[in-house]
Amino acid sequence: MNYAGRVPLSTVDWPGKAVTTIFLNGCPLRCPYCINAEMRTAESWQDIDLFDILDPYSVGLINGIVISGGEPLMQEAAVRLLAHQAHEIDIEVAVETSGYYPEALEEVLWNLDAVFIDMKEVFTHEAYTRATQVLGVWPRVFKSLELLMRTGTPFQARTTVFDLPGYILPTSEELEEIIVTLKIMSKAYPQNRYMGFKLQQGILPESYYGIKKRNQRVSKNAPGSG
Ligand code: SF4
Repeated sequence: MNYAGRVPLSTVDWPGKAVTTIFLNGCPLRCPYCINAEMRTAESWQDIDLFDILDPYSVGLINGIVISGGEPLMQEAAVRLLAHQAHEIDIEVAVETSGYYPEALEEVLWNLDAVFIDMKEVFTHEAYTRATQVLGVWPRVFKSLELLMRTGTPFQARTTVFDLPGYILPTSEELEEIIVTLKIMSKAYPQNRYMGFKLQQGILPESYYGIKKRNQRVSKNAPGSG
């Protein structure tokens, strides 16, 4: 397992639960606001499992684990192992993912109790390339989202608002479009178990809408627009 580390006890990573959050190295994306940038290319392969990772002092307090990263679904076998072992001791399992690996997500889905999926931007080539600095991302994320909806997997969608000098990512109009997309897809898949939408980086929707006038579309010189 290309293991990065863990937070023994978190009450914010899975709403309503106390969890250990486990970080796995590796991510194919290059989001400009990434707070775990060093994990994207880090190599720390270790022959470990969940019982090596859990803190003996917090294990009695948690009722779940969140497997994050990086992009945890780069390590499908590790996710499957951690999920299996968590269920052995009767705690729940969630994965936090960019949605970049729908095939891996489908493979591990039945081992998961919830998924937290990034919706970094509206589903267009331009917007998703700007947000991730990588080509061809949005169709993969759409496929993952559709999979979650179709299979009735409990999931929360998460968008990180990033305020760069000169432009905001995503803009308020794009944020509205992301939410509308989720609503439309929810109606198309009535079996869905969509748990709601979360804005990250501490910017509340109210404050976001308050700065709507400052928003600008990305200029031609902005990162990722070339
Ligand atoms: S998907 Fe997450 S880990 Fe990967 S670059 Fe983006 S913010 Fe960083």
